[in-house]
Amino acid sequence: MKKNDVALIGICSDSNSSFMKGPAEAPAKIREVMHNGSANLASELGVDLSDNSRFVDLGDRQIGPGPDALMGIEKHIAEILDSGALPLSLGGDHAITYPIMRAIHARHGPVGILHFDAHPDLYDEYEGNRLSNACPFARIMENGLASRLVQVGIRAQNAHQKEQAKRFGVETCEMRNFDPSSFTPDFSGPVYLTIDLDVLDPAYAPGVSHHEPGGLSVRTLIDIIHRMEGTVIGADIVCYNPRRDINDMTAMVAVKLLKEVAGRMLSDNTQASTC
Ligand code: MN
Ligand code: MN
Repeated sequence: MKKNDVALIGICSDSNSSFMKGPAEAPAKIREVMHNGSANLASELGVDLSDNSRFVDLGDRQIGPGPDALMGIEKHIAEILDSGALPLSLGGDHAITYPIMRAIHARHGPVGILHFDAHPDLYDEYEGNRLSNACPFARIMENGLASRLVQVGIRAQNAHQKEQAKRFGVETCEMRNFDPSSFTPDFSGPVYLTIDLDVLDPAYAPGVSHHEPGGLSVRTLIDIIHRMEGTVIGADIVCYNPRRDINDMTAMVAVKLLKEVAGRMLSDNTQASTC
């Protein structure tokens, strides 16, 4: 790994999933579909991952149960950041984004976060677990790890989470009344991208634990990733659940997003970059 390489890492963790296990099996399934020969690895931005020395696959890390194991993810991401490379993590459920952001903050300070999700994941605690996959953005915000949190695709927000969003100054782009064709996230400087696949309508991505109808299309999500402003310095794609998938179609959605996000990261961060 060297400066501004994009380092792909699988984080096999679902012990903080509140409803259903399965996301720990996601990285292996996404890799299998990525390399099964059905599609090439060319991103729409002109970056071909099959022919790019700056795209490095570090394989998977198995994360055991318990808070220490979850928080240990920070160390795996810090190793990537210490080499100057840019982490692209495959979850795992959304609980992994809190320890990831601790590592990002240690290197970059508070950065902007663009968060795609049906859910705000802002619970103070969920079923007694403050590290639940329903809580990561409460932990991130109360620890000052982000300069700004923009949530897109939200369509399952209860009164507690609305209160939390207000408390933390979260910028919420609810699915209701959302006009994706005119939406361009206006970050300046470094931005971290976190994609919960349940932001997509279940018609496009049935392989998730929490089906929340009325979501984004794959095309709309890709278009926003392409045109957002800012320098993408890290990303994760989380909450794929192979146990719920149909004909691996959601795994292929994850591969498609991986290609476009990696293409964006490789284009944003050239060797000359100072970010
Ligand atoms: Mn989530
Ligand atoms: Mn979600």
